[in-house]
Amino acid sequence: MASGTDSRVATISSDSPSEPQAEGAVPARRGTVENTVRVLLPLPLGDAYDYRVPEGIFVAPGQFVVVPLGKRVLAGVVWGEGTGEVAPEKLRDIAEVLPALPMSDRLRRFVDWVSAYTLMPPGAVLRMAMSVPSALEAPKTELVYRPGPPQGDGALKLTAARRRVLDQLQDGPALPAAELAHMAGVGVSVVKAMASAGLLEAVERTLRRNFPQPDGDREGPALSPAQAAAAAALVEKVKSHAFSATLLDGVPGAGKTEVYFEAVAAAVAAGRQVLVLLPEIALTAQWLKRFEDRFGAAPAPWHSGLTSLERRETWRAIAENRVSVVVGARSALFLPFAALGLVVVDEEHDQSFKQDEGVVYNARDMAVVRARLESAPIVLASATPSLESVVNVQQGRYGALHLPGRHGGHRLAAMSTVDLRREAPPRGHWLSPRVVKAMRETLEAGEQTLLYLNRRGYAPITLCRACGKGLECPQCSAWLVEHRFRRTLVCHHCGYSEPPAHACRHCGAVDQFVACGPGVERLAEEAAALFPDARIELFTSDTLMSRDQANAAVARMEEGEIDILIGTQMAAKGHHFPNLTLVAVVDADLGLNGGDLRAAERTFQVLYQVAGRAGRDGRPGRALIQTHDPDHVVMRALVSGDRDHFVDVELAARAAAAMPPYGRLAALIVSGPDPATVDNVCGALARRAPQQEGVTVLGPSIAPMALLRGRHRRRFLLKVGRDTAVQPLLRSWLDRIGLPNSVRLQVDVDPYSFL
Ligand SMILES: [Zn+2]
Ligand SMILES: [Zn+2]
Repeated sequence: MASGTDSRVATISSDSPSEPQAEGAVPARRGTVENTVRVLLPLPLGDAYDYRVPEGIFVAPGQFVVVPLGKRVLAGVVWGEGTGEVAPEKLRDIAEVLPALPMSDRLRRFVDWVSAYTLMPPGAVLRMAMSVPSALEAPKTELVYRPGPPQGDGALKLTAARRRVLDQLQDGPALPAAELAHMAGVGVSVVKAMASAGLLEAVERTLRRNFPQPDGDREGPALSPAQAAAAAALVEKVKSHAFSATLLDGVPGAGKTEVYFEAVAAAVAAGRQVLVLLPEIALTAQWLKRFEDRFGAAPAPWHSGLTSLERRETWRAIAENRVSVVVGARSALFLPFAALGLVVVDEEHDQSFKQDEGVVYNARDMAVVRARLESAPIVLASATPSLESVVNVQQGRYGALHLPGRHGGHRLAAMSTVDLRREAPPRGHWLSPRVVKAMRETLEAGEQTLLYLNRRGYAPITLCRACGKGLECPQCSAWLVEHRFRRTLVCHHCGYSEPPAHACRHCGAVDQFVACGPGVERLAEEAAALFPDARIELFTSDTLMSRDQANAAVARMEEGEIDILIGTQMAAKGHHFPNLTLVAVVDADLGLNGGDLRAAERTFQVLYQVAGRAGRDGRPGRALIQTHDPDHVVMRALVSGDRDHFVDVELAARAAAAMPPYGRLAALIVSGPDPATVDNVCGALARRAPQQEGVTVLGPSIAPMALLRGRHRRRFLLKVGRDTAVQPLLRSWLDRIGLPNSVRLQVDVDPYSFL
């Protein structure tokens, strides 16, 4: 075990969490009648409220306490000194101080920061930092036995059995009765009798799950000179214990992971904690294996698939600095790290870091804030960095490290477009002759193909031939998508589903439905008809419902048990399939059609990543991109491999329109079951919209997704220059707006979705 690991364990000096942790200069307060503190509760509408500290109780900022609220009692966090705004006769007492380590000053500042930036109530943000209420309770304990104090001549009268018990404890740790008895080969009654006689002493020990510790001193793999230089730069930053943000940029296969692993090793060896954020935590079996190979132990994962016991143990261990590396999805950002020394955001461009429901925030951007508050370096890694990060580098806010080429001399796949206007598939089919030919060659060579289409189900639209109307979701402005294998029609926006009907609900015509357009299931049908002997599998969230299923599919692909993999975006992320030599993008124009701000950027990123799956491990790969618009700047950039040119063109367009990253946006989404009520609120909002130089308010307009889950939706878009903060504008705008109960107003600062 690394020396760093030992010293880290030794730092857990306090087993009595009620003892306040020294955190800056904030003094503990002794309860007197006048003493009040603000307590923040993890409620969606919560702000901090004053409570009285009863006499004889000590509380410090950050401590978890139980307080009454109305007729309930709730756990919250002491947020600071009382405001004095509550009349003394209305003040209520803190009911209980919970035996958990206090929330650090840094994490509390982070909660306040996220709340101020997103305009969400602090209680809504706190809820994410208190996601495991059971971790605040006293951990379970067990009785263990150790030798009692010496008893003069007593040792002479020991029976053989009793002597064996004492011998067992000679150099070892204290043990529970059953284990001790078993190891000494005696009955449990012997141990109990020895305890009664004072030969043994029973002590209470906290039960804790032990987490295997990654070894930061273990030798890493051989690095190329470019990798070694980048790694050394990151290690320096880790050692400086100061905030810095670095973009780690390199093509797929350039070895970014090995590089940031060196920084992870440096942090772990120094006894600091590391947080790695990944976009698709469901699919990290390969990443975890690489980590384990490098460090000899797995990191602690954090995602929605953990059991409540795993969550509780992991949460506590992170707070007590008994876990050194956490890999997780967005929510891991709010964990109670005791000594955070490095943050890594892998695939930093990935839009799944943006949470669009509840507290609307971008985990990549907030990770930078958390790192700054923790005085820790952050590494943002990507083969296709977001334009936001590119501009942050250009303007000197972030540092940059570039890894040229593929590690080990692998070449990027040769990319070419297939012009669907000239090389169209036969009617009712979706694979062009050139793609089919390439698939045949790949099969004959014993290699693997990935067909990429970011469309779940069988067909995106089901139309009635008799009346021409489509099947719509009754609650949303969206088509129902046929999932033929499950025999159901599904709304991908609200989850509504219904069995396929025979009669049209519009005109009553029977058996006149026709599927329009392809989904992955339909592609699988086409591939099976073309290559009846090939082993074909779907890789989508519908077919792979759990992490285990997804990992098993990845393993089958690695083992060569699949010839043709047909996948959605889920298949585009981070996998290494050594025998995959052909990637065909079935409809490259799909992502461009929405026409939102980032359509081109997103399409370029995902297609570049998908194509990057082909031909790793030394085999030449090729990527065929089916498009109706081969002259589009995205397609040309993909074929020429000139990412930087694409970035320049796209940035110039954003600059000309003063759009992010050169301007700032915030969206307001007003929704409710009754369209007239929603429109009334929108009218009031429009009348009070900020009017000043450099501020543009667009809307209200009917949202593209006009109906969602039965709620009618309208949108405003606020646009300001890069140097203007949107939060004060929004605050004064929304301050005076009264909302009827049925109407919801969602604020989305830095929106990524415009639906
Ligand atoms: Zn019809
Ligand atoms: Zn729906």
